[in-house]
Amino acid sequence: MSNPWKRTKLKLKIAANKIPLDSFSESKILNPDRIIEVSIPIKLDNGKVKVFKGYRVQHDNTKGPYKGGLRYHQHVDMTEVKALATLMTIKNAVVDIPFGGAKGGICVDPKKLSVTELEELTREFTRKLAPIIGPKLDVPAPDVNTNPNIMRWIVEEYSKVVGKKELAVVTGKPIDFGGSEGRTEATGLGGYYVLQEIVKKLYKKPENLTVAIQGFGNVGLYLAVFLVKAGYKVVAISEEHGGIYIPEGIKDIDDLFKCKEKNGKLKGCIEGAKNIGPAEVLELPVDIIVPAALGNAITTENVNKIKAKIVLEMANGPTTSKADEILTKKEVLVIPDILANAGGVAVSYFEWYQNVHKEKMTKKEVFKKLEVKMKSAVDAVYETADTYDVDLRQASYVLALKRLTEKA
Ligand code: GLU
Repeated sequence: MSNPWKRTKLKLKIAANKIPLDSFSESKILNPDRIIEVSIPIKLDNGKVKVFKGYRVQHDNTKGPYKGGLRYHQHVDMTEVKALATLMTIKNAVVDIPFGGAKGGICVDPKKLSVTELEELTREFTRKLAPIIGPKLDVPAPDVNTNPNIMRWIVEEYSKVVGKKELAVVTGKPIDFGGSEGRTEATGLGGYYVLQEIVKKLYKKPENLTVAIQGFGNVGLYLAVFLVKAGYKVVAISEEHGGIYIPEGIKDIDDLFKCKEKNGKLKGCIEGAKNIGPAEVLELPVDIIVPAALGNAITTENVNKIKAKIVLEMANGPTTSKADEILTKKEVLVIPDILANAGGVAVSYFEWYQNVHKEKMTKKEVFKKLEVKMKSAVDAVYETADTYDVDLRQASYVLALKRLTEKA
């Protein structure tokens, strides 16, 4: 099932039956609170006007303000945003932070826009969203193709609309503009903490494990950095246009990143490495594969070619339902997105908290707090998996639904 919204609803229903959830709570979780679609006209550099479509879905605010990223991508549509908003509610409950779930985005290929156009698009989108976002209402953040600079534009524009500076309206801001230390590394680092905890439970050693990563954006990059530091052998990394495979393992991720920035691609960055495409990366003979790019990376088309025994889902929704079933049958351990990549939003919470309470945490403090959060999430998911005899994805859903429906 490659429709992400149908897939998410199905998983929710199965989890709701396990608990079991009363029909009111089930309906509440299956129906997002609010669905917003806006038109965003902007003047392009060539003088022409183009109208883009923007979305924000606020799924649930039982635990606190709506929270979730904004993505800029040509495939963004309402079904995807609805699914991703729901996943945010679940994710935030799994890491136990006082936020609800939301998601948004614009259907646009940002690579085709100039910086001026991108800024205007963001500012116009912010003006359209202004009535429904806010520090105590709904707090967006970066996601695919959005970054701290875009968050800065949102703060500036939102502050103009409401007449006062409101740093806490978004997270993932630049550090000198109300951002938190450690937010940039957070998603990758969170995935690393989750994997470390699970590898320990499996009585395995990092130095005996090989890893292949699909995606070298913010998430793939920092995950690779922390994995290599801990002794894992990261043998392949790919990005949109291609990648590299070197069975001896990549020694220096920082160097690789610098080379990629300089040349605009990974290809040719390590002497002797084989060029490899993003699809091939997931089919390599390694212990762990990490889809860290877009959704629907593992489907019925390629699932049978997967040789790894562990899948660490760092992207949101990288595995289709059918492929997920096949992986389970093949006894592949899937560490689900709602656990694996929750480090980003966990540190978003720390950032929001620092803004609201006018505090400043050091990077060391943020990393420590993140480690504690991620490890206790892993333990809670494992405990739920044991109690209900389900896989880690179902366990994450069950855990989240229980937390969302428990009486205060
Ligand atoms: N976009 C990230 C996610 O999907 C972070 C969201 C946030 O920090 O609000 O988890």
